[in-house]
Amino acid sequence: MNSYRIPFNKPFIAGKELEYLNQAVENGQLAGGGKFTKLCNEWLEKELSCRRALLTQSGTASLEMAAILLDLHPGDEVIMPSYTFVSTANAFVLRGAVPVFVDIRTDTLNIDEKKISAAITDKTKAIVPVHYAGKSCDMDTILEISRGNSIYIIEDAAQALLSKYKNKYLGSMGDVGCISFHETKNIISGEGGALLVNAPELIDRAEIIWNKGTNRKQFVNGAVEKYTWVDIGSSFLPSELTAAFLMAQLEQSEGIIKRRCVICDRYNDGLRELEQKGVFIRGQHCCDRESNGHMYYIILQSGEVRTKLINYLRDKGILAVFHYVPLHSSPAGLKYGRVSQSMNVTNDISSRLLRLPLYYQMTNTDVDTVIECIYDYFRKGKSQ
Ligand SMILES: *Cc1c(COP(=O)(O)O)cnc(C)c1O
Repeated sequence: MNSYRIPFNKPFIAGKELEYLNQAVENGQLAGGGKFTKLCNEWLEKELSCRRALLTQSGTASLEMAAILLDLHPGDEVIMPSYTFVSTANAFVLRGAVPVFVDIRTDTLNIDEKKISAAITDKTKAIVPVHYAGKSCDMDTILEISRGNSIYIIEDAAQALLSKYKNKYLGSMGDVGCISFHETKNIISGEGGALLVNAPELIDRAEIIWNKGTNRKQFVNGAVEKYTWVDIGSSFLPSELTAAFLMAQLEQSEGIIKRRCVICDRYNDGLRELEQKGVFIRGQHCCDRESNGHMYYIILQSGEVRTKLINYLRDKGILAVFHYVPLHSSPAGLKYGRVSQSMNVTNDISSRLLRLPLYYQMTNTDVDTVIECIYDYFRKGKSQ
């Protein structure tokens, strides 16, 4: 499958994954909620300073849990960027809520906080800041808007594990935060995620929803005699096998993030000259000590240049990719959501942004090869 000399992504094995999988098998519990689930939850609570962390099957499942937990009903509105992954919106549409799309900023590509107030109506129930590329949204402004209007904040921190905003971890500032451990993220378990519950009053119900709508937690703690169905919920726990794999990754997270940041810095230094010549703009998320090196992107002059550069790199054995089709213009987005004001920045950026290969095992030589090929392409372009 992987025929590229430099693929876009490669899952990284940090070290003790197989050892911990063996231990999980030996422990005799494969279903979720065992020793490794607890270890992962505790690690997240301690490292991120969140009140309660609950491991889930995916970032998507975390968003779906958030939508249940915050009691979203048909017709409720949820403000979010259009420039994001489908799950950000889909999780709320499943509850009958309406995504209201707001344009993004030109620098961070995060939701434009100045345009949020204009999107608020008496139906607005929540705002979902998506921390794109692991770079923080303007949380001070967003939290202030939420307090003034009694609106929930659900941080989509799927890409942002261990990134910070003013010394606080992303995902730990909203009422809840959602993390992903999908194999394309920094810290992985194949599929996987976590819901971070920060608002104390939401913790008990979060545990019930997590446990398929039962009071199993209280039963295990001896607080109730019978364990029964008390609320809506679903099967959100991942198995112990997933948790065991993840624990090995979490233990190495600092080193993984450090290396990814070094790669981002190297791209950023190497590509400076092309930016100075006005060939493209480099993403702003790199080279700042607060983000987690999740992504390296450039913004080209047009979609046409992007297509040509992708093809050129592919011929050299390098896979570069782009995303997202803006949700407001996707078939389901048109059906289930609506826009608030103009989507000019979203439309423009989504047509020109290009992500470069980035994975832990990438060597400095690999990074330099990508940089060289990009220079080659633009030199050729000039002489043609
Ligand atoms: C990856 C991602 C998700 C979904 O996470 P999964 O674990 O793949 O379900 C949601 N939102 C954003 C912004 C993401 O990047």
